Amino acid sequence: MALIVHKYGGTSMGSTERIKNVAKRVAKWHDAGHQIVVVPSAMSGETNRIIGLAKEIMAQPDPRELDMIASTGEQVSVGLLAMALQAIGKQAVSYAGWQVAIKTDSSYTKARIASIDDVKVKADLDAGKIVIITGFQGVDEQGNITTLGRGGSDTSAVAVAAALKAQECLIYTDVDGVYTTDPRVVSDARRLNTVTFEEMLEMASLGSKVLQIRSVEFAGNYRMPTRVLSSLTDPLMPLEEEAKSGTLISFEEDTHMEQATITGIAFNRDEAKITVLGVPDRPGIAYQILGPVADANIEVDMIIQNQSVEGKTDFTFTVPRGEYQKAMEVLEGSVKAHIGAASIAGDSKVSKVSVVGVGMRSHVGIASQMFRTLSEEGINIQMISTSEIKISVLIDEKYMELAVRALHKAFGLENA
Ligand code: ASP
Ligand code: MG
Repeated sequence: MALIVHKYGGTSMGSTERIKNVAKRVAKWHDAGHQIVVVPSAMSGETNRIIGLAKEIMAQPDPRELDMIASTGEQVSVGLLAMALQAIGKQAVSYAGWQVAIKTDSSYTKARIASIDDVKVKADLDAGKIVIITGFQGVDEQGNITTLGRGGSDTSAVAVAAALKAQECLIYTDVDGVYTTDPRVVSDARRLNTVTFEEMLEMASLGSKVLQIRSVEFAGNYRMPTRVLSSLTDPLMPLEEEAKSGTLISFEEDTHMEQATITGIAFNRDEAKITVLGVPDRPGIAYQILGPVADANIEVDMIIQNQSVEGKTDFTFTVPRGEYQKAMEVLEGSVKAHIGAASIAGDSKVSKVSVVGVGMRSHVGIASQMFRTLSEEGINIQMISTSEIKISVLIDEKYMELAVRALHKAFGLENA
């Protein structure tokens, strides 16, 4: 017998028919002798619908009131699932975040979990009940309802699993796992049986949107084994088979590395590049350029400063494409004159492609293989950045898919 947390996404909870299927699956796990806590999302489209209503009233709704309503989709889900379980003869009880309680800070619409009380849940589990807890929501010190940011139910589930010291957190979703790259770009992308949480963090932050990134951080911090698996299979499929399906997010030490050096190719289509030309090369310049950009709440990613020639240098960095105009305005506004730069150039049609893998720690030559592959395809590299387990290049958006396909093949990631 083990304590296991299941999380079901919006699609899996999308209709009463589907909720009945979730109930069958959950009951199957409970019948096998496990203690089960379920953390569902709102029914698909519901959170968007609710936020849409708020926006019909005002463009910038008060975040506290927004959380008050945005959190209700999950409340409907838990109640319906409890009923669906009761309808098939299971004892089940649902809780909103504040009832558990899942305590958060007060940053409405993006609150962070501070603590989770396990007393009530443990007592219910010991009494043989299936416990269903709202995803996405919590309560702050003052008793205000908060939400954890879009996609936050993943984080709720992993956090609940960590608090209860569950054996595993199973994230049931509409894809059957994590792939070597997006199968819409590379048709023979392969599903990974395991991926380390560090790799997953890189893949998630680079645009593979299977899980909310904060949930992966939680899994890593609390060493919670977390599995991404399909909710579209037959709910009554054999449990042993289901328990091994999907992709397990694991920890380097306890994985027998199935894969070679590289685990996946991640990409981010929507990048923009900005170059400040002819900047005096003196202390404080990076701060004077990037400080105002950060103050405008714009996230900067890759950064390069060139060798200076006659006391002048060029400074290049990337921002999300959606922030490009704003960043240019900030720089053209006061920064350029203030630092005495010659000019500012930009390109909003660039993409980032990265190879990711913990195997990089013990293998050399990955970067040169990556650069050779791109050069054979005639793709120009505009910027390069590296971390211990990742090499990223910035290239013309036109060549992004070509680059991803070529690298996927060069590193032998395709389906055997
Ligand atoms: N219902 C919330 C959303 O749509 C949370 C979640 O589904 O994870 O973002
Ligand atoms: Mg989601």
